[in-house]
Amino acid sequence: MADWFEDRLALLNKWEGYRYSVEGRKKQMKAVLDANENWHIPEKEVRRALKRALDGTDVRSYPRDAVERLRKGISRKVGVTPNSVIPCSGADQAIDLLCQGFLNTGDPVTIISPTFSMYKLRATIAGAECVELPMLDSFALPLQELKIRGGEGGLLFICSPNNPTGTQFDEAEVLEAIASFNGLVVLDEAYVEFADYSVSKRVTEFRNLAVLRTFSKAYGLAGLRLGYILANDSWAPDFLSKVQYPYPVSSIAAAAAISLMSSKPTISKWAASVKRERAWLTAALSKLTGVRVADSRANFLMVSLPVDSAEVHSKLGRRGVATRNIGDVLEMKNCLRVTVGTRRMNSLLLEALTEVLPTAA
Ligand code: PMP
Repeated sequence: MADWFEDRLALLNKWEGYRYSVEGRKKQMKAVLDANENWHIPEKEVRRALKRALDGTDVRSYPRDAVERLRKGISRKVGVTPNSVIPCSGADQAIDLLCQGFLNTGDPVTIISPTFSMYKLRATIAGAECVELPMLDSFALPLQELKIRGGEGGLLFICSPNNPTGTQFDEAEVLEAIASFNGLVVLDEAYVEFADYSVSKRVTEFRNLAVLRTFSKAYGLAGLRLGYILANDSWAPDFLSKVQYPYPVSSIAAAAAISLMSSKPTISKWAASVKRERAWLTAALSKLTGVRVADSRANFLMVSLPVDSAEVHSKLGRRGVATRNIGDVLEMKNCLRVTVGTRRMNSLLLEALTEVLPTAA
């Protein structure tokens, strides 16, 4: 008879793990541009929110009221009912939770690729069969193929703005994909504060839409691990009370997020600063010979280089600039993904790239 546990261990052995982009940080990095963090929000703003959270919280008690307050705060910010909000330990946990809650062995999962690796990793652990549909060379949704596949149901993951391309899908096409999909569409808006539009409020209209949001990017709270799912209030409360843990996020994280949501200057000030710097960095990088930059609506850029990106990635790392090597994406070859950092960090990136890239003949 087959050994049950050995079978499970064989599966564990087969699964892929998340590949961290922060390995290079072991060395002293001068510009940390590999994990799409927000270096524009001043550390003192975040510390102030954290201090207020610490002062107003008794961590001896379980975070029940804190979670309710967080749901209300998010609901006001986004414009949906508190019943539509499912707090999670980062958007990462949101992805996992939706896989756990909805997928059975053999269920279909559709992923618009190339994209964030977590969708496939977590859906695979849940036993689903993943199919990756490449986006079009124009970075648009493959609507025709999606419509054919949509009939099967399952989960559809769309990341918009998309990691690693930074591009955002056309809003009308996203809505068309949701309307035609006979399953749950998980729309990841981790970077939406830097983007042109959000479909968050559409959860009131589409029962088969779950939007993922996070406090790790625009809010600068990556270390606190806080995100959330927005979903139709006909099922979100059930999902929260049955699939999510009873106390899903820490009271400190919840209170800090509430404080930042109502802080002055508002978060949109720092997001606007990232967007201005994004335009500057895009223009500066595009001037380098053979370099192309995808049109970003996020806080990072996907940059195609005229030479091997793995080599450039290591050479930049040795110069104290951490980036993420992506490789070939559609017809853009040898891509790196770089966070839009502060002007100082971006200048270091440009200097290092100028040293590393071949000069034009
Ligand atoms: N979605 C996307 C597209 C991301 O890039 C990330 C972070 N790398 C996440 C979700 C997870 O974010 P969090 O820190 O909230 O878990």
